[in-house]
Amino acid sequence: MFCSQCGAEYREEVSQCCECGGALIPALPAREAPEWVDFVTVLLTRDHSELALAKSLLEGAGIPFFARNEEVESLIAAGPVEVQVRPEHEAEARDLLRDLNERSGS
Ligand SMILES: [Zn+2]
Repeated sequence: MFCSQCGAEYREEVSQCCECGGALIPALPAREAPEWVDFVTVLLTRDHSELALAKSLLEGAGIPFFARNEEVESLIAAGPVEVQVRPEHEAEARDLLRDLNERSGS
């Protein structure tokens, strides 16, 4: 048995997780494949304003995206933020971000 909340494993006779009180289920649902593996990078930037502009452009176009390294405090220390989108949105995203990419010379 596994806790549906925290994933802790228990013997058959246990019905509630003693860690978090979650209900136990016979098996954990299969984990979804990593969602970001196939994403393509459409912009690399160390510039916060450029990143903000890229995000607003993508949001405006309704393109789901992911900004890798964004959570890191210092962009300089961590390297550039990678703005990534699904392959099916790559062409559209590159088109939207063309000006940004040209401005940063990449
Ligand atoms: Zn639990």
